[in-house]
Amino acid sequence: MIGLMQHHPLLISSLIDHAAKVHQGAEIVSHMPGAPAHRCSYVDVARRARQLAQAVKALGIREGDRVGTMAWNGYRHLELFFGVSGMGAVLHTVNPRLFPEQIAYIVNHAENQVLFFDVGFAPLVAMLAKQLNSVRHFVAMTDREHMPDEAIPNLLCYEDLVGAQDGTLEWPVLDERSASSLCYTSGTTGNPKGVLYTHRSTLLHASLACMTDGMAMSARDMLFMASPMFHVNAWGMPYACALSGASMVLPGSGLDGASIYAAMKTERVTVALGVPTVWMGLQQHVATQGLKPREDLCIERVLIGGAAAPRAVVETFANEFGTRVLHAWGMTETSPLATLANPLRKHRDLTTEQYVTLQAKQGRVPYGVQIKLVDDHGKELPHDGQAVGHLLVRGHWIASGYFRAEGGAILDEEGWFDTGDIATIDADGYMQITDRAKDLIKSGGEWISSIALENAAVGHPCVAEAAVIAIAHDKWQERPLMLVMRRPGKDVSKEELLGFLADKVASWWLPDDVLFVEELPHTATGKLQKMKLRQMYGGHRPSSG
Ligand code: ADP
Repeated sequence: MIGLMQHHPLLISSLIDHAAKVHQGAEIVSHMPGAPAHRCSYVDVARRARQLAQAVKALGIREGDRVGTMAWNGYRHLELFFGVSGMGAVLHTVNPRLFPEQIAYIVNHAENQVLFFDVGFAPLVAMLAKQLNSVRHFVAMTDREHMPDEAIPNLLCYEDLVGAQDGTLEWPVLDERSASSLCYTSGTTGNPKGVLYTHRSTLLHASLACMTDGMAMSARDMLFMASPMFHVNAWGMPYACALSGASMVLPGSGLDGASIYAAMKTERVTVALGVPTVWMGLQQHVATQGLKPREDLCIERVLIGGAAAPRAVVETFANEFGTRVLHAWGMTETSPLATLANPLRKHRDLTTEQYVTLQAKQGRVPYGVQIKLVDDHGKELPHDGQAVGHLLVRGHWIASGYFRAEGGAILDEEGWFDTGDIATIDADGYMQITDRAKDLIKSGGEWISSIALENAAVGHPCVAEAAVIAIAHDKWQERPLMLVMRRPGKDVSKEELLGFLADKVASWWLPDDVLFVEELPHTATGKLQKMKLRQMYGGHRPSSG
């Protein structure tokens, strides 16, 4: 028997309509280079998203067509998130920091019909335009006055397009399983692959972000979006903020410590999210400037994901900012939020120290996501915090395949997706990543966690960042090599660092050598680029043998 409750498809357009009606007082603050902060409300975003949708339709875009963006965090990008998906087209957020050949590959693979771009990317767009076969219109996300000088074919102006429409469009009632947005994984192995989100998966994921044991996003929050909106669908935040009525700071490309601190202070930011390197930059800025975040800021929680949160970063937030870190794990294929290290009732009385320790783990799954561990032969492993295995995931906002069937079937017979991550899960369900399968160091048949070594090293006051990779060894097959970037003006020797690590990891985990480097390479989304490091240093042989 079918029940007698109303059925409304879960659509992205319903989020912005809700926010415009119910959360009129919330603010969207955008920082653009060289201009005063731009302020608007969800009412403005909703109106302009409709105008934009009309404009996109007028350009000949139909439901299901892909519309690309190459842009930083700002209100126009937010309008595109709602306008493009709302009218039934698919928003494809292109990562502009990828190699130009990769950008051309993914724009062509996605068959983007229109490409919206920040004026700062005009030189890149001009250079690539000829190779972008499917793109019929290039739209500069600015007004007439600030149009780029570059020669770009079929160039249009965002404000002209939006201004020409009256905003009277009715959002179409789509099937909630319709594609809403598209993000490519960075493709560390092989070509980038497209993850195609649905309206339904996006709304369910947004609901999770608003749950207390999610990110607890609410109408009392001001979010600082320290992750670029082109990374994993903006971590789902435009949707979660519209759903909950949270205000947002969209900082353009200003993700350096000084800009973040200033914005957090002025805008009374309560919650922020980003990868660890961004937070290391902020904390370094606070240390070198002798700032007083406890007095200046009211930041309650910082969600760290994308790479493992180093203990030192969690500790500094706790002790110097009075801020709780919430460690989370996910990937492009998981929308991204899949586990979060929220505490349980039994953790109510944890000391700061114990809370920091809890945040070493990437956390528990919410309703809607399931995880399990298997060994190399697919046999399920116990959740005892000891067994280390391949992390498999399935759920409402987990990919079922890649766009245009790239990579073939990605789920096993029971619908599990192999994340490529190696992890443990403890009896309370807290998952901890030990490595990415492709970054594993296998020494004499045993796994050494590069993440654990890196995090321990970052705990040393002279270490800004550390990366650990495998190097070949005659006897043990592989041994760890540590590459260290010192903090400016600080000095530490290999012997001192190894001595510091000695009581933090098993003795046979200690790196065979430590090399000090000026800089460590990062991926387009701010993660350590291990593949490049392996190319650069994989042949290194420690002098001591
Ligand atoms: P890419 O890194 O290829 O650009 P993603 O952003 O999808 O693509 O990265 C997902 C991967 O990032 C995960 O599979 C995992 O290896 C790593 N990751 C994400 N969050 C964490 C975390 N909190 N701790 C450790 N690793 C993480």
